[in-house]
Amino acid sequence: MAGSGTFAEIIDGDVFKYYAQGHWNKSSSGKFVPIINPTTRKTHFKVQACTQKEVNRVMESAKTAQKSWAKTPLWKRAELLHKAAAILKEHKAPIAECLVKEIAKPAKDAVTEVIRSGDLVSYCAEEGVRILGEGKFLVSDSFPGNERTKYCLTSKIPLGVVLAIPPFNYPVNLAVSKIAPALIAGNSIVLKPPTQGAVAALHMVHCFHLAGFPEGLISCVTGKGSEIGDFLTMHPGVNCISFTGGDTGIAISKKAGMVPLQMELGGKDACIVLEDADLDLAAANIVKGGFSYSGQRCTAVKVALVMESVANTLVKKINDKIAKLTVGPPEIDSDVTPVVTESSANFIEGLVMDAKEKGATFCQEYVREGNLIWPLLLDNVRPDMRIAWEEPFGPVLPVIRINSVEEGIHHCNASNFGLQGCVFTRDINKAMLISDAMETGTVQINSAPARGPDHFPFQGLKDSGIGSQGIANSINMMTKVKTTIINLPAPSYTMG
Ligand code: NAP
Repeated sequence: MAGSGTFAEIIDGDVFKYYAQGHWNKSSSGKFVPIINPTTRKTHFKVQACTQKEVNRVMESAKTAQKSWAKTPLWKRAELLHKAAAILKEHKAPIAECLVKEIAKPAKDAVTEVIRSGDLVSYCAEEGVRILGEGKFLVSDSFPGNERTKYCLTSKIPLGVVLAIPPFNYPVNLAVSKIAPALIAGNSIVLKPPTQGAVAALHMVHCFHLAGFPEGLISCVTGKGSEIGDFLTMHPGVNCISFTGGDTGIAISKKAGMVPLQMELGGKDACIVLEDADLDLAAANIVKGGFSYSGQRCTAVKVALVMESVANTLVKKINDKIAKLTVGPPEIDSDVTPVVTESSANFIEGLVMDAKEKGATFCQEYVREGNLIWPLLLDNVRPDMRIAWEEPFGPVLPVIRINSVEEGIHHCNASNFGLQGCVFTRDINKAMLISDAMETGTVQINSAPARGPDHFPFQGLKDSGIGSQGIANSINMMTKVKTTIINLPAPSYTMG
């Protein structure tokens, strides 16, 4: 059970504590934030509503702890990360249970998220040892007028305090994808978990605590983003922000000071299907890509752009697969589970009703019970409908019929987003040309968009993000280059 056994010390009564200065603490606010179970729509957990004073203290200890952590040998940092990864995987069951109750993640996927997170931490430790164990040596005589009298040594040094803010849909995996690179690179970390997902994140943080990281190096403050978010992101003690989420990230980018930003934001991933595509493969990927975790994935297929000549056949194949999806609670591993909040369900419904008014073809009846929305394919969607452009983050997928590849690329590139896209065709030359033309961070050929494996570069263009992640890129992003230049005497002098 969440908060029991190994995790007993992270809870006080029925409110989970926050983590600072190497201890589990109660907030002096005396207030808590309720976490609503998306399935029952009742309060399931409570977390502390941390105060600004507590944030200030966390920033101070993060700064102090970072100074000595930066001097800790790389192998020792890696050793602790490997230990944390093992503890995390050992305790996958209680952490996965939190994911089921807080964010209605299907039980099997919840366990996968925790295991994947442990693997990510271990890989990061390995990769960090190699990346940070290397520097560069430059000589000075490449430019006219220069002799070989200067030697430049470069190395990578930590940024300082990294603020990590992950979203609700992968509260463990998208937290460790920030924590592990930050720590291996010699930074300290302040984590602000999403409200829905906070308890899973607190359990994950306890695994790092048990691994024995120094006091103050890792902190986790809880509270509503709308209440403590600005205070955290504009805090002078923060030296880097790694954020994953929606439009909030655009606002943070405008408010943050002169600190490096890693922004992983929303997407409207398009799937272009050409006439020569393997339609069974395309249908399988569109259903998996569009409806896994009820479409609440940044890389979900969010619009299918299908050549008119194959659209009827493809839509039928998609509908046949949708009919086989199970709909229900996450505990029994239903394919489609309740979306995270009531306001999220209302937003999705708004997009569906707009499409209805404007004449989209409903391939299934629209059914909703509480936060649970049955999977829905909307055919004949046109560009004047909101769902053609907006991210539903729910189990609703629009199909736009196109008459040329150019029309598909045009729709994809007219979006404000540019996360991923995919193309289904048997012609590799066409696929490569389309990949080149699509303004997205990644294009998948003959597969649905996806984030992993976690060491692949992953990035969004336009409103989908700033910077690139993936393990190596995140480690590099959380460092800066330091150079030391050795100036030798002039050659004539040395040659005597
Ligand atoms: P969100 O509403 O933007 O929230 C993300 C995080 O920001 C949460 O921890 C939230 O805390 C916090 N937050 C809210 N207001 C804040 C503020 N003023 N200052 C600082 N932090 C604040 O996003 P979400 O609904 O959790 O996640 C869904 C979105 O994430 C989708 O758009 C999806 O595409 C995107 N996403 C992108 C990627 C990627 O890699 N590109 C991956 C996954 C998800 P509270 O929960 O307490 O409000």
